[in-house]
Amino acid sequence: MTPRVTVLGAGPAGIAAAYRLSRGKARAEVFERAPVAGGNSTSFQIDGIWCDYGSHRFHPVADPHVIGDVEALLGPDLLLQPRHGRIRLGGRWIHFPLKLQDALLKLPPAFAASLIGDMAGRKFRKMSTGPRSFSSVLYDGLGPTISENFYFPYVRKLWGLDPDKLAVTLAERRVSGSSIGKILARMMRMIPGLRGRTTGRFYYPKKGFGQISNAMVEAAEGQGAVFRFGADIVRIEREGNRVTAIVTREDGAEVRHAADQVYSTIPLTTVVRLMDPPPPPEVIAAAKAIRFRGMILVYLILGTKRFTEYDAHYFPELSIPISRMSEPKNYSSASGPADRTILCAELPCDPGEKWWDMSDEELGRHYCDWLGNLGLPVKVPVIRTETRRIAHAYPVYDLDYQRHFETVDNWLSTLDGFLSFGRQGLFAHDNTHHAFAMAYAAADVLTPDGKIDRAAWAAHRREFEHHRVED
Ligand SMILES: Cc1cc2nc3c(=O)[nH]c(=O)nc-3n(C[C@H](O)[C@H](O)[C@H](O)COP(=O)(O)OP(=O)(O)OC[C@H]3O[C@@H](n4cnc5c(N)ncnc54)[C@H](O)[C@@H]3O)c2cc1C
Repeated sequence: MTPRVTVLGAGPAGIAAAYRLSRGKARAEVFERAPVAGGNSTSFQIDGIWCDYGSHRFHPVADPHVIGDVEALLGPDLLLQPRHGRIRLGGRWIHFPLKLQDALLKLPPAFAASLIGDMAGRKFRKMSTGPRSFSSVLYDGLGPTISENFYFPYVRKLWGLDPDKLAVTLAERRVSGSSIGKILARMMRMIPGLRGRTTGRFYYPKKGFGQISNAMVEAAEGQGAVFRFGADIVRIEREGNRVTAIVTREDGAEVRHAADQVYSTIPLTTVVRLMDPPPPPEVIAAAKAIRFRGMILVYLILGTKRFTEYDAHYFPELSIPISRMSEPKNYSSASGPADRTILCAELPCDPGEKWWDMSDEELGRHYCDWLGNLGLPVKVPVIRTETRRIAHAYPVYDLDYQRHFETVDNWLSTLDGFLSFGRQGLFAHDNTHHAFAMAYAAADVLTPDGKIDRAAWAAHRREFEHHRVED
């Protein structure tokens, strides 16, 4: 008999698991709290313009199988777009991703001289001693100039922690150019003639990033998978070390769903909280110590066709609290309404911080002030401001996270027939294509008799360690 898999969460990881499982491997039933698919990668319309939860691009470095599937699902709706962003460094705008000629011309001379000094002096630089952290690894690899002017303020803003309070993992996952030589090599690959078809480009669907998730849901449903939206998982029942059922709240009523195998992509901390009977006290304590960083997405709706020609602006400087601003219309070059555009700001922020409870109008006013201070004054009519808040935007890799994560992860791994994966399930600072790769691996390790091949899964987990975040 075909095995049955209960999937928790319909973000990219849960959807991709259902999509792969329902290709003849298993009957997949997916439970999602939200009314729509896509999790943090979903899209929605504001005034006829497709918007994402902050800047989302599908990166061409994805596994070719994953890209092949996405191309097949979207057909001509999947665009290959040139990246055209700007980063603010030393008070100047520089093309992002960095281009050699542009950087040479536009970097402030003192900044460029200091960078060259860091490169030349690398051999003589005193390497950090003592426990390693995000700051020591960056200092040793990249030197003080780029660390102090770019990475350190940027991570302070994104995680709300000083760089010496953040774990090395963050540098491993997030910083793709671990030396100035590697950054230069990346810039060289951007030179016309030296670059490949997808260098400096990204995939983007015509109807927003979430079109990828929607297309995959449709394909999975066509293969027999069942999606239950508006199903908030409120309890996970177990007998000994086996999960036997999940309980959802749907339209105000609790519904119990018996389960054989459970693939969870909801936050691992939520799984611990919902487990009935609860896990041992040390697992509960570890889960409570694990933190996710939140984010407010502020959408400024403007009465003009286009505000800038750029897809995204990156703001490492601490003088402005937003980390990035995107103009969704410029992602798809799609013909939205001619009389308006939207600027989406990413404001890293946790519940309880001063921005979290601010009204949309107030946030909109601050947003306009910040842009004015950066030389981007909003001189066109502001129609209104809308916001969205996400509680699980980024995993926080503080210095203790590894210990706590391992305690929870080890306990979850003892549960028979249960796998936790995806960005929230493995506390992984990952891109969507990584969430897909994890889901494909999870589907592959299900044996024909409905068991999980633990050795194969352990091998995949080691591969996931090599996932590197693309911005
Ligand atoms: C600001 C920002 C920008 C990003 N930019 C990019 C980018 O450019 N390119 C890229 O590839 N990736 C990007 N990402 C990452 C991308 O959003 C994630 O990798 C992806 O969404 C992870 O998918 P997931 O399924 O693992 O998790 P999620 O998308 O978080 O999905 C988890 C799902 O579980 C559901 N859930 C949680 N609790 C419950 C419950 N109790 N009951 C039922 N359902 C529940 C949630 O509603 C959600 O739908 C970005 C992320 C952020 C925050």
